[in-house]
Amino acid sequence: MTIDIKRHNSKLFWFDLEPNNEKEFITIYILIDDKITLIETGPACSHDNLIRGINEAGFTLSDIDFIIPTHIHLDHFGGGGHIMEVCHNAKAVVHPNAVYHISNIDKWWSGSLDFLGDVAELYGEPLPIPEERIISAEDGFKLDLGSSTLNAMHTPGHAPHHITWINNESAFVGDSLGLWYPEINKAFPVTPGYYRHDLALQSISNMSKLNIDELFYTHFGPRPAAGAFQQTINEFETWMSIVEDGINESLSSKEILGTLFLTQDGLKLTDIKHGIHQRNTHLGSIEGMMGWIKRENEKN
Ligand SMILES: [Zn+2]
Repeated sequence: MTIDIKRHNSKLFWFDLEPNNEKEFITIYILIDDKITLIETGPACSHDNLIRGINEAGFTLSDIDFIIPTHIHLDHFGGGGHIMEVCHNAKAVVHPNAVYHISNIDKWWSGSLDFLGDVAELYGEPLPIPEERIISAEDGFKLDLGSSTLNAMHTPGHAPHHITWINNESAFVGDSLGLWYPEINKAFPVTPGYYRHDLALQSISNMSKLNIDELFYTHFGPRPAAGAFQQTINEFETWMSIVEDGINESLSSKEILGTLFLTQDGLKLTDIKHGIHQRNTHLGSIEGMMGWIKRENEKN
């Protein structure tokens, strides 16, 4: 397959990774400064497409200095070890809590299998990365790229080890602001198991205070920042209240999804349009919210 490289500007290129031929699901970004940075790698199964994308953007594998995921869920960094193995000059930069898991993959892989089942197999098993090639990024960590820096902002909620990466007025937001669907001009929550609603809203609020013009989603592509934070908070809160009502009426997660399809314009379309990897995402988000409510109720 040929990869269509989008030149967002002279310093930022991106492309559609198309893991297992699924389009408009995973965006890979290449940030160009004195140092060349790859943001997100996608899963192991799309390793060949990732290499093709790097090459078609005009780079060799040895040009890559940093390989940086927003978090280590398999769709974001399952291919991290594979690409590190061929990009000899690169260092990986991750959240301190992720360092162990990407250098000793057993727990990471078994946890992914438990959580994702067959989809984990489709993504493929990660390869470990030697610890000496990993940089641990605390909150506020700054990576010097030459004429600019890439700043780590810890944005837990979706996952405890999630980082939003800030470069000038651009933010690479991973899954911290949900899933962006350009065709309907909306983002919907993505809130898997062990989702922390309090931290997610705090993270979004923290991001909204920065001087950000543009958001770069992994799922999927660029979005102007104006209005985005409020739209996202509204959507997260609406979902949470519908999930709460559903629990009170003893509805199943599937029934709650049925309600959301009726109330949230465009949601049904996003479910129909996407393939195997995204098929159960919305259901998983509802179950993540149900888990959050249950844990909160147990506290009281
Ligand atoms: Zn994720």
